[in-house]
Amino acid sequence: MATLYDEALPYLQLEGVGKRFGAFQALSDVDLQIRRGEFVCFLGPSGCGKTTLLRIIAGLEQHDVGRIVQAGRDISALPPADRDYGIVFQSYALFPNLSIADNVAYGLVNRRQPRAAVAARVEELLALVGLPGSGGKYPAQMSGGQQQRVALARALATSPGLLLLDEPLSALDAIVRLRLRKEIRALQRQLGVTTIMVTHDQEEAMSVADRIVVMNHGVIEQVGTPMQVYREPATPFVADFVGKASRLQAVAEGDRWFRAGALRLQCPPGQAAGFRPGAPVALYLRPEDRLVEGFDATHPGACSGTVQRIEFAGSNCLAEMAVDGLPGQPVQLQFSLNQMEEFGVREGAALRFALRTDRLRVFPATSSAGAAA
Ligand code: ATP
Repeated sequence: MATLYDEALPYLQLEGVGKRFGAFQALSDVDLQIRRGEFVCFLGPSGCGKTTLLRIIAGLEQHDVGRIVQAGRDISALPPADRDYGIVFQSYALFPNLSIADNVAYGLVNRRQPRAAVAARVEELLALVGLPGSGGKYPAQMSGGQQQRVALARALATSPGLLLLDEPLSALDAIVRLRLRKEIRALQRQLGVTTIMVTHDQEEAMSVADRIVVMNHGVIEQVGTPMQVYREPATPFVADFVGKASRLQAVAEGDRWFRAGALRLQCPPGQAAGFRPGAPVALYLRPEDRLVEGFDATHPGACSGTVQRIEFAGSNCLAEMAVDGLPGQPVQLQFSLNQMEEFGVREGAALRFALRTDRLRVFPATSSAGAAA
């Protein structure tokens, strides 16, 4: 399948891809470039079109408009068998009547390789996914996690240029899921295979992806590294969907100043431009973007409030604060368990803190704020 192409170009390129199911627009104008060896996650809520996009790349679904180029070759019209990928589905999709070895060998046998070469490759693949010597077993004799490793071995059998993973971990229990996702990432790095994984789990995407493609209602909202989509969400949807954030309704006052209730907050330069005084906006702030000490009353985000509720989340807790001068707009602050003790954070306690105004994100209030809720 090797095609000569310029390595400086993206390995996979989607240009203006669109798809309708009857009257329903499942994907609109999807542009995306993926570099060779990248691990990219398609992340978004149920129904946003991520699986449809993956299936279009695989040729299992035909797009209506646009172009798909893989390794310099326009694959838009090619049937799945003529494309260069391996795929793993959520349901392990192994053949129950075939041994594990025969399942893994499936793609190789179809390509008419000599029997001894197939057997050696199968053993190599099973070792690669941590299941050496399991070739004689049958799928029913294996756990869900093991079956998914077999599915991975099968997908990698032909050393495809592209590995497509359609929610491969969502049928597994939490511990197996965590372990397997680490293993998939390590394997992907080892092999250097360009990989796309569909997931609706933002933590999963953040932990494995080089870049995340955040999707909503059939469009790409943002493409960026996990840090970029978390720290610099491009849209209110991304700010809501990835991680936790407090959203404050505010009004622009000019010169990057915004008024939320009785608070006046100044946003950092660069992202608060173009809001005319009087324009309604939504300000977003992550729960960890707060100070509890090391600031004084002149700090631009200094405030006080009362702890309304505490949500325990393992080593961290989220305290929902009723902020003085900001009625009806609770702000979530994050504390470690040690900080809870240190700062006396408990329900009903009064607290002085400062919002990290340098971390505020500002969006027009009229856009899709809250769409992820
Ligand atoms: P999920 O995580 O729930 O699978 P998703 O983001 O992967 O969600 P898709 O499976 O891509 O979403 O589906 C996108 C939209 O297209 C959904 O509204 C779905 O109902 C619709 N859809 C998908 N396949 C078809 C089909 N064959 N016929 C009609 N509508 C479809």
